[in-house]
Amino acid sequence: MRKDNPLLDILFPPRCPFCGKIIYSGEQTCDVCSNIHPKVCVRPLFSTAHAAVTCYAAYPYQDQVRNAVLRMKFGDEPSICTFFGHALAEMIREQLPKTCFDAVTAVPMSHLHQFQRGYNQSELLAKAASGVLHVPYCRLLKKSRRNRTQHRLPAAERFHNVQGVYQARKTFTGKQVLLIDDIITTGATLTVCAKQLLQAGARSVTCAAATFAVPEEVADKD
Ligand SMILES: [Zn+2]
Repeated sequence: MRKDNPLLDILFPPRCPFCGKIIYSGEQTCDVCSNIHPKVCVRPLFSTAHAAVTCYAAYPYQDQVRNAVLRMKFGDEPSICTFFGHALAEMIREQLPKTCFDAVTAVPMSHLHQFQRGYNQSELLAKAASGVLHVPYCRLLKKSRRNRTQHRLPAAERFHNVQGVYQARKTFTGKQVLLIDDIITTGATLTVCAKQLLQAGARSVTCAAATFAVPEEVADKD
């Protein structure tokens, strides 16, 4: 994984994203977790007169995948984002082999939240996917105010909770955008973000998430 600097592999040995066991440099997972494969979920989000927005998600949010996402978000292990970002990119390549994206972007965090965590996991996922897809990563959205944490709300309130929270940073007329988040639950956050991108001129928006869950399964999504 870090062939450029073997010393880093000694000081910070690569770990299996799913179980945390130390693995050899160049391996993606440990032997036991190598049988965990993506199970792609395709979920239509909404349609306008000009565009239909769909979300592709790679792994069900359960068992070892849930363990990995929790460590990625709350265990200060941002390197797990690289694994999921690459998986996302492979999924998009397989699902949409003919789509030429102009930009990869991510669901933003509030400045305070990102400062507290030290990173935005969705941004790291998007940057990793951008490298594999050879499509530039661009910060196209901003979070203009903090809202209540989504996972504490019933599904019906989540759409209301994200209204007016995200804004496009600029116009990007005619561009095809790949928008990335870590988990899709109700799809409320991705829906409002995709609508902002379309309003800012995007020709199409495709959403991709590392994992998918139904709202009752997720007590740790924000
Ligand atoms: Zn493992």
